[in-house]
Amino acid sequence: MTAAARLVTAAGGPASLCRFRGALVGAVLGDCIGGEFEGTEEVPLDRVLQHLEGLEDETRGDCILQYSDDTAMTRCVAHSLLTRAGFDEQDMARRFAKEYNLAPGRGYGAGVIQVLKKLASPQLSDVFQPARAQFGGRGSFGNGGAMRAAPFALAFRERVDIQRYARLGAMLTHSCSLGYNGAILQALAVHLSLQGALALPQDFLNTLITEMEELEKDESTRSDARVLNESEFPFCARLHRVKELMERNKVSIEEVISELGNGIAALHSVPTAIFCVLHCLEPREGLPEKYGGLERTLAYSLALGGDTDTIACMAGAIAGAHYGIEAIPQAWQRCCEGSEEADMLAQRLHSMYHRAPPEGDAGLLGSGNSQMHSRSGGSSEPQPPE
Ligand SMILES: [Mg+2]
Repeated sequence: MTAAARLVTAAGGPASLCRFRGALVGAVLGDCIGGEFEGTEEVPLDRVLQHLEGLEDETRGDCILQYSDDTAMTRCVAHSLLTRAGFDEQDMARRFAKEYNLAPGRGYGAGVIQVLKKLASPQLSDVFQPARAQFGGRGSFGNGGAMRAAPFALAFRERVDIQRYARLGAMLTHSCSLGYNGAILQALAVHLSLQGALALPQDFLNTLITEMEELEKDESTRSDARVLNESEFPFCARLHRVKELMERNKVSIEEVISELGNGIAALHSVPTAIFCVLHCLEPREGLPEKYGGLERTLAYSLALGGDTDTIACMAGAIAGAHYGIEAIPQAWQRCCEGSEEADMLAQRLHSMYHRAPPEGDAGLLGSGNSQMHSRSGGSSEPQPPE
């Protein structure tokens, strides 16, 4: 048995409970642990390892690391998908607004705060409008949609549904294609990882490139890329860079940052998170030998600096879906606020995912019949900005 095959066995078969739990708990850990270095441009690996070593100290209390907006909004997505047994933009928007109102100090960006305040208005009927109006009508291309995208991969079985609802879920705050396409890419990466696709890393990456090629043919994507001075097929171009970096014998942190980025734009962080997972499938120089793949992934994501909580959150979700909950150190989980709730939400999503569709019904999950999933009843789908 190869090392990769052993890992797949350890995490259970495709869409196992262990993988579901790993995905959501991995995301919370990335957010909580990554918060320490958020916005720091140069993060020496020693400092990362010291920070992680500190989590093993049992004299420190539970939940010493608080989660930020990444987890706050991911919880809203998961609760909404579970409560409504599908996607309901009104419900999800209300939950975002309420969550912000209850705990505004979770590190939200200034742009999204404006949107969340408008979403709180009971008079608002089109919940996509506040996000669409941002930045002169172009919308945000930040990674705020991508950071909370993992639950879509745990709620829907079919790629077409994951794409549709990850896009709409992101568009509640990020209406630029470079924002919501990042959310789709992240959700697809978690989906493939849940299926065990990281056992064949090249195929995993090629599948993502093929999916994004299809999405990025879209006219709004092409015009957004032009306006923002990005290359055509921007996410595909970055994923090709991920491929090139994987083929190199040695790659420095500086090269990863300059080729892929570590910033708050979805384009400069989602492919980076995917690279972190792929790069850390094998032991890496400078990282402790005792570390398994998930620990390596989180440590490496932090060492890139920049938007560390979000990059580690996204990488944590993809890696957690691959390695499973058993691979996440108990001590790390204990230190992170929200990890128990994430575990519970993952278990509920797993039950929903595997529930047999009701008799005479195409099923809310995985039917490919998108109409079945929208619980909002008749509101028109928003158009991305031209
Ligand atoms: Mg954050």
